[in-house]
Amino acid sequence: MSFKSILGHEGTINKLNALAAGGRVPPALLFYGPEGIGKFLAAKEFAKALNCTGPDETLRDKKQELKEEIGLFAVPAPAPHPSSSIPHISGDACDRCVSCSQIDKSVHPDVRVIDAEFQALLMEENSQKQKTLRIDTVREFTRYVYQKPILSSWKVFIINDAHTLNTNSQNAMLKILEEPPPGTIFILVAAKRNLLLPTIISRSCAIEFNRLSPAAVEELLERGGMTLDEASALSELSGGSVKKAGDIKEVRDRLAGITAADSQKIFKLVSSLPREPYMAREEAKIMLDMLLVSARKKWLAQPPGKKASEHAALVRKLLDYRRFLNQNVSHGLVLEAALLESEKLSVALR
Ligand SMILES: [Zn+2]
Repeated sequence: MSFKSILGHEGTINKLNALAAGGRVPPALLFYGPEGIGKFLAAKEFAKALNCTGPDETLRDKKQELKEEIGLFAVPAPAPHPSSSIPHISGDACDRCVSCSQIDKSVHPDVRVIDAEFQALLMEENSQKQKTLRIDTVREFTRYVYQKPILSSWKVFIINDAHTLNTNSQNAMLKILEEPPPGTIFILVAAKRNLLLPTIISRSCAIEFNRLSPAAVEELLERGGMTLDEASALSELSGGSVKKAGDIKEVRDRLAGITAADSQKIFKLVSSLPREPYMAREEAKIMLDMLLVSARKKWLAQPPGKKASEHAALVRKLLDYRRFLNQNVSHGLVLEAALLESEKLSVALR
């Protein structure tokens, strides 16, 4: 993997590429945008590009030029670590040096990922149960921030799902974001920028990641081993997020296992929702989206007339039901109503 392997964010990747090549990098970066579109992967590849020691000396002059162009909001590159060889300066990772391979394996001592899993290990808890990143976690990783780098020039801390940092945790991070030790970079990866304090945002250089195109999602799913047909169907429902495509696949696979007589089917589908309310709501939304895509297709396939109007009315109703799921209503009841309405026009989950 390297920047070249990231699909669909060309402008953003070019910017990161130039920052890494120039060696002047803002100490706090905020990668924000919807879930499942490659922000974390880009953060990891950026850490690799910064610390890569692959042999590419011909680009050294280019790096010098870029240093002068890239601006204000940046700190100069730290001196090379004594144990590292000549820094790689193409702005992308070679994927072969010790640093690249250690980052790929998540064992690089100077590139740390702070996330629910890190917190769960630290607190000896279940990683599924980490809803927020807590102040003790921030205190713990702050200890590493002030230690000297072990292998590479740059120390990089990737705080994944940074929007789950609670208020105390965010306040505890303000000082290190403002005055980080030289050669230290924080990359906050957040799906919901509005959950971050304005004081955190103002200390960070924000880089927006947009939703992927359906074609990019399809290609990524195929690369992951899916058949073209399945990748194509899921990319259409994914809303530009590979993560969402994966979630939809899970729901589809589960629904495919539900067999029942027609009269029982809706009851079985609704009662198959997970028990945990948050997860049940998310699955109900996925099922509503699946119904919406089927209903829209049927509507568009109809010639103008009574049938087309009925399908158009169903699409409007399903959109209303979809909105209800964001409110404090029973997701089971909403899903049941949506399935009953859809059944009348032979619109099924697929
Ligand atoms: Zn490398």
